[in-house]
Amino acid sequence: MPQEGAGQVAGVPLTPAQRRRRRANRLNLSTPAGLLVARLGSARRRPGPYGLVLAEGYRLRFPVAGAFTVGDVVITAHSFDALLARTPDLLVHEELHARQYARCLGLPYLGIYVLAMGWSVLRTGDRASGNVFERRAGLVAGGYVERPVRSLRRRRGGRGRAG
Ligand SMILES: [Zn+2]
Repeated sequence: MPQEGAGQVAGVPLTPAQRRRRRANRLNLSTPAGLLVARLGSARRRPGPYGLVLAEGYRLRFPVAGAFTVGDVVITAHSFDALLARTPDLLVHEELHARQYARCLGLPYLGIYVLAMGWSVLRTGDRASGNVFERRAGLVAGGYVERPVRSLRRRRGGRGRAG
């Protein structure tokens, strides 16, 4: 088990898997797209751990999330210091999302992710709990609380939901 905080700083040599991810996300254009989104939102950029780029102070209102990742670029409207104080493993979680981009050949991941999110909302009423990508990246590490799966069948004899 890695020490707490290990690899959480920029400048630590990348693992071969991280180097492959970084090259893949450059070639599939998801990292350039992330840099563009960060720029459009006037976010400040700095190098992060695991070969990620951290972009903070993002000013656009979409998408609504504590942090979101496009390619190898992790973007937030807040500061990473504040986010990591609350969810210390957040960048481990976001790095797994960056790997998911690489496996889905880049930007097609966004479409597949939205489908997985829709499924999650249907099954759990929550964007993350039933979303395979969030589950694999780690719900707790991502700052999510797991919600139980609910039945797809309508309750019979329920009250207050006429029509
Ligand atoms: Zn996530």
